[in-house]
Amino acid sequence: MSYQVRCDSCDFDQELADWVEASSAAREHEAKYGSHWVSIHDLQAV
Ligand SMILES: [Zn+2]
Repeated sequence: MSYQVRCDSCDFDQELADWVEASSAAREHEAKYGSHWVSIHDLQAV
């Protein structure tokens, strides 16, 4: 299973193998760019 971490405000786009990594990557990006919104997409259905 993998998760795609995607930012609504820039080109940040990353695919990670587990939820913990995905959510920490999202948190890191949002911490770095305060106004960006990062969403995590479950890719298992693709
Ligand atoms: Zn961003």
